[in-house]
Amino acid sequence: MGEPLFDRIAYIGIGLIGSSLARVVRRDGLARSSIACARSESTRVTARDLDLVDEVTSSIAEAVRDADLVMICTPVGAYAAAAREMAPHLSPGAIVSDVGSVKETVIRDLVPHLPANVHLVPGHPIAGTEKSGPENGFAGLFQGRWCILTPPEGTAPAAVERVRALWRTAGMEVDVMDAAHHDRVLAITSHLPHLIAYTIVGTADDLEEDLRREVIKYSASGFRDFTRIAASDPVMWRDIFLQNREAVLDTLQRFTEDLTALQRAIRRGEGNTLEALFTRTRAIRRSIIDAKQA
Ligand code: NAP
Repeated sequence: MGEPLFDRIAYIGIGLIGSSLARVVRRDGLARSSIACARSESTRVTARDLDLVDEVTSSIAEAVRDADLVMICTPVGAYAAAAREMAPHLSPGAIVSDVGSVKETVIRDLVPHLPANVHLVPGHPIAGTEKSGPENGFAGLFQGRWCILTPPEGTAPAAVERVRALWRTAGMEVDVMDAAHHDRVLAITSHLPHLIAYTIVGTADDLEEDLRREVIKYSASGFRDFTRIAASDPVMWRDIFLQNREAVLDTLQRFTEDLTALQRAIRRGEGNTLEALFTRTRAIRRSIIDAKQA
């Protein structure tokens, strides 16, 4: 174990992602001390019982005091209020980072509140499960996955490098890109698939009672995989769609056009069209397996 990367890490929110990171920080001695701020008593008790951090608090002001890394791990809709509350208590030179699944609005919501003497390094570890809460986190969650950092122009490179080092230690590959580009990429790779899953499962649930029972019984034929995704946290995903609105709507428009084209091919009995698409998509699955992201 080398020198800790940080003196004191403050986690604002400690659910699935925050607690997984806290486990890595503990495992590898990445901080001299740590504190988690959680709004509910039950989360504070769990974080304490699992020994995820040295201290827990319900006060954002208390959590960020003396921290050289503040890691925001709440749903993205809670960022503006959190930033307002933490701003007067941040240490000069502190890094404020996050794990949120949308990046452009995160910057929009944080920047106006943060003092000029802190470094903002937004991040998104692309790793997760459909579960929530600190009891479901695990240190291996990030292993072999990608993390995207989207520092606004002019961010001190040394701050970016420290956040990069943190995620590298967690086992992630790290890419740096523009926040708008991140949001467009994630709209197609993550947000649209979740929207489709929520829709299919909702449609099945709306079917009449008899049919609905059989949907559960025969779910192994494909439906089951969608239900796993559609079991993801409702608040987190509400916020993602509200915050990545433009990119999601744009991707959804293209998807709807492609779906209509498939609908027409089925109606007209155009087997070649269907087979050509399904052959192309099978190759994409192969490239994901080759990239070890399956
Ligand atoms: P989670 O398990 O539900 O944990 C969320 C944490 O935020 C909890 O500690 C919760 O407190 C707190 N919180 C919720 N609403 C809040 C509010 N309005 N004000 C203050 N605190 C609040 O969620 P998660 O899966 O760790 O997700 C956290 C972030 O990671 C999200 O921004 C999400 O977009 C991002 N992310 C998630 C995944 C994934 O697959 N889950 C992957 C990558 C990134 P209580 O426990 O006290 O309610």
